[in-house]
Amino acid sequence: MALIRPQHDFEPGPLNRCQVCGSSDLDLVIDLGHQPLCDSLLSRDQLVQPETTYPLRLMRCTDCGLVQIDYVVAGQVVYHRSYPYRTGITKELSDHHHRLSVDVVRRHNTPVDSLVVDIGSNDGTLLKGFQRQGMRVLGIEPTDIAKFAREAGIETIQAFFDEEIARQVVESHGQAKLITATNVFAHMASLGAVLRAVEKLLAPDGLFVIENHYLGDIISNVQYDTAYHEHLRTYSIQSLIRLFSFYDMSVVDAQRVASYGGSIRIFVARGGNLPMSRGLTDLLAEEIGAGLYKSETYVAFRKNVSKHKADLLKLAITAAEQGKRFVGNSCPGRCSTLLNYVGIDRELMPYIAEQPTSLKLGLYLPGKHIPVVENSVLVEEQPDYVVLLAWHYWQTILAGLRARGVRSKFILPLPEVQVIEN
Ligand SMILES: [Zn+2]
Repeated sequence: MALIRPQHDFEPGPLNRCQVCGSSDLDLVIDLGHQPLCDSLLSRDQLVQPETTYPLRLMRCTDCGLVQIDYVVAGQVVYHRSYPYRTGITKELSDHHHRLSVDVVRRHNTPVDSLVVDIGSNDGTLLKGFQRQGMRVLGIEPTDIAKFAREAGIETIQAFFDEEIARQVVESHGQAKLITATNVFAHMASLGAVLRAVEKLLAPDGLFVIENHYLGDIISNVQYDTAYHEHLRTYSIQSLIRLFSFYDMSVVDAQRVASYGGSIRIFVARGGNLPMSRGLTDLLAEEIGAGLYKSETYVAFRKNVSKHKADLLKLAITAAEQGKRFVGNSCPGRCSTLLNYVGIDRELMPYIAEQPTSLKLGLYLPGKHIPVVENSVLVEEQPDYVVLLAWHYWQTILAGLRARGVRSKFILPLPEVQVIEN
C-alpha cells in the first residue's frame, strides 16, 4: 500500500509539523532567540536602518527523528541575488568536491558523456570535476554566483530547481545519470517540488547523491552554530530513509564524510524498497547506539550549549578587562549564529578578518555589526587573541596564518573553547 505523502512544500512562516513525516510531536531542542539571516551581511548604509530577525529554534520530531527549525524564511529572501557564499574560494571545499566527483563516477560506473546535473551548483566547483571526467554537466543555481560558473565554462540555469525546470532539462538535454545536491538538500523550502523534479529528471538507472551536515556530528561536537535559517532540516539517516519512502526512490547507501565539520553522503536510486548496503545498516545501528533517538541526548546537548556560551563569553570579557585585543578570523555563515547567540559584539570583537577573495569584505556581520576586513590586518596588528570562527578547518587556517607571520594566540570555539598558544 502506498504511503500517504505529507506536504513537503513549506510556506514562509511558523512550522508546527515535521518536515519529513508530518507529525506534530515536536520537542524543543534549543531556542537560540530571534536572529538575523546569517548570509545577509550589511552595508554601511544598512547599519542605520531597521534589521529583520526571525525565530531560530531547533525542534526534534519524536516520530522520525528529524531535527528542524520551526520557522521558514522565504527562499528569495535567504538566497538573495547578492548571496555571498562561494564554494570555489575555500581550498578544502574545492578539493573535497573534486574527490566527490571522482568517487561518485567510480561507484556508479557512469559512462562518459552522461548528463550530470548539480542542484544549487554555486560557482560550478563540483561540476568542473565531473566535466574533467568527460561528463556533460549542467548547473541549476538561483543566485548571481551562477555567473562565476558560466565564466568557468559550466552551463548553468539561474533558477530554483522545480518540476518545470526538470521538464525543460529533460527536453533539451535528456535525463540525468547523476543528480547531485551538496550542502543544499537541508535548505530547500520547496522540498516536495525538488523531489518530484528529481523523479522526472533522474534516469531509471541513475543515482541521486546528496551531501549535508549530519545530526550525529552536530550532537557529538555541540555544533549549534550549524543552526541558521538556511538549514531548515538537520537529517539523521533514519529520517532520510523515511523521506524517500514517500517517493518512488530509496536510500541504498550512505557514508560519513569530514566536510563542514562532519557530513553524510547519501546515495538514492529509483524504485521503492530497494535493498540497503551494509554501510547503510551499520550507520543506522550507530545512530541508535549514539542515542540520536533519545530525549536525554538532547537535554545533555542543551546543557553543553549553555556551558559553551558561558565559557566563550567569559574569555571575551576577561580579554577586554585585561586590555587585550580579541578578534575573529573567517566569516562563515555559522559564525553569525555563534556570535549572536553568545552575545559577542564589536565592543568585544572589533573585527573579523577574511581572505582577500571573500565577497563579505567591507560588510558587517548581521545582528552584531562587526566589520569584516582583509586578513592582512592580523599580520600588521598581531592581536592577542584570534578566534577561529571557521573552526571546522582550523588546522589549515592556523597553519596558513602562522606561515604569514601571525604570532597571536588562537582560540578554537568548538567543540569546546580551547586556547592554542603555539
Ligand atoms: Zn518526523
